[in-house]
Amino acid sequence: MLAEIKGLNEECGIFGVWGHQDSAQLTYYGLHALQHRGQEGAGIVTTDGEQLKLAKGHGLINEVFSENQLEDLSGHASIGHVRYATAGDGGYENIQPLHFRSQTGGLALAHNGNLVNAQALKNQLEAQGSILQTTSDTEVVAHLIKRARHLPLEQAIMEALSMIKGAYAFLVMTEDRMFVANDPRGLRPLSLGHLGESWVVSSETCAFDVVGAEYDREIDPGELLIISDEGIESKRFSAPIQRTLCSMEYVYFSRPDSNLDGKNVHASRKRMGKSLAEEAPIDADVVTGVPDSSISAAIGYAEASGIPYELGLIKNRYVGRTFIQPSQELREQGVKMKLSAVRGIVEGKKVVMVDDSIVRGTTSRRIVKMLKEAGAKEVHVRIASPPIKNPCYYGIDTSNSGELIAANNSVEEMEEQIGADSLAFLSVQGLNNSIYQGEESLKHGGCMACFTGNYPTEIYPNTMHPYEKA
Ligand code: SF4
Repeated sequence: MLAEIKGLNEECGIFGVWGHQDSAQLTYYGLHALQHRGQEGAGIVTTDGEQLKLAKGHGLINEVFSENQLEDLSGHASIGHVRYATAGDGGYENIQPLHFRSQTGGLALAHNGNLVNAQALKNQLEAQGSILQTTSDTEVVAHLIKRARHLPLEQAIMEALSMIKGAYAFLVMTEDRMFVANDPRGLRPLSLGHLGESWVVSSETCAFDVVGAEYDREIDPGELLIISDEGIESKRFSAPIQRTLCSMEYVYFSRPDSNLDGKNVHASRKRMGKSLAEEAPIDADVVTGVPDSSISAAIGYAEASGIPYELGLIKNRYVGRTFIQPSQELREQGVKMKLSAVRGIVEGKKVVMVDDSIVRGTTSRRIVKMLKEAGAKEVHVRIASPPIKNPCYYGIDTSNSGELIAANNSVEEMEEQIGADSLAFLSVQGLNNSIYQGEESLKHGGCMACFTGNYPTEIYPNTMHPYEKA
C-alpha cells in the first residue's frame, strides 16, 4: 500500500560504512535503497579521521545531495539517515544525523525508532542544566553520552544506552570510531555486512545488494559494535532476552527484497497470503493486490486458492510528492491520483482485493469504490495481517486508537463502511506462523502490539497520546 495515503508511515532508515574511500557515495546509494523508510529528510556525516563533516536537508535523497556536496564529504567512514518525522517535529534541526561539537571532539548520531522514556529523560536533563536544541529523542542520547564524559567514550555510550527504553537502532560516530547498537529487544532491523575490507551497516539488507556488500549477520538485541581502523569488537550493554522484531516490518515496511533475521520479506508475505486464503476462502474470479506492498501476499493468496492473480490495480509512478496532502479530503483525492483500477481485468468479475493492512479505512473504501466503478461485480477484501487496534510507541506513526478503524468497529461494521462484499483479516497466529514457520514460531515471537495490545516494553504515560490516557 502507499504510505502517504494510508496513514501508516515508516519510521526511518540508517546506513553506515567504515573503511572505504568513497564512503559518502556508498552511503548515498545505501540511503537511496532505504528511501521507502523515510522521505522527509536525509543526512550524511563523514569522518576523515580528523573531523566530522555534515550535509543534510529536507526531501528525497536526490533532492538533498548534489554531486559537489558528496565530493566535499570526503572521508573513509560515513553514517546516514533517511527520515520520516516520528518524535519531534519536521524542522531542519531534527533532520539526522545530529552533529555535536565539543572541545573533546565531535559526535554524530543517527537513530531509527522511538524512545518510550524520552520525555522523562528530557525533564531530568533539563533539571540538571542541559539545554536541548532539538525536539527529537536522539538528542537526549547525545546529552546522556556527554554527561558521562568522565568515562571512556565506549562506557559512556553503554551507560547512556542502559538508561533509554523503547525501540532503537543507533549509529554513533566520532572522528575515529563508529558505534552500532540495537535495543535489548531488537525491535528495529539492523544488519552488518562487508564490502571487501570495509564494514557496512544497514536497516535493511536491500541496501547491501545495491552497494555490492555481502550480508554477515544481524546486530543482536542489546549488542554494541565498535568499529575502527583497528577492527571490529562486539560488546553487550544488556543481558540477552528474546528478540521481538516489529512484525509490521514483514507485513508492510521493509522492501520485499530485504531479509529480516534471515527471512526474506517477499517469501514471508507470500506465506501470509497463503494462510489468509486458508483462513478466509471465497469463491471469486480474480485475485489482485494493492501495489506495492500487497502484491506478494496477493500472489500467495492466488497460489493457495487456485484463483488467478491479475493486475487489477495499477500504481501511477509519476505522481510527485506535491500531492501528498495531510487533510482527509486531499488524502482521498491522493488515492485517485496514485492508483487506477484496470477495467479490462475487473469488469463483470468477482474480485479478491488483497491489502497488507487497514489503518483508518478511508483508503480501502476508495479502492473498493474504484474497483466497483470499473465494473467489478463483487469486491472481497482480504487483509494479510490482523486488525490494527492499538497505537505503536516504537517509531511507527499509527496516531491514536481513535483514528484506527479496527479499534472502534467490528469486522462487520468495517465491511459495511468500506463497501466490501466481504472482509476478513489474517489471524495473529496465522501471521506468526507465516513469519516464523512451524517449530520456529514456538521459540520466536515478534512484536505484535498494534494487533494484540501486548507491548514488549513498559509504556510511560507521557509517551501516550492524550486520547489513550483519557
Ligand atoms: S506495535 Fe506494531 S508497528 Fe509498532 S513495533 Fe510493534 S508490531 Fe511494529
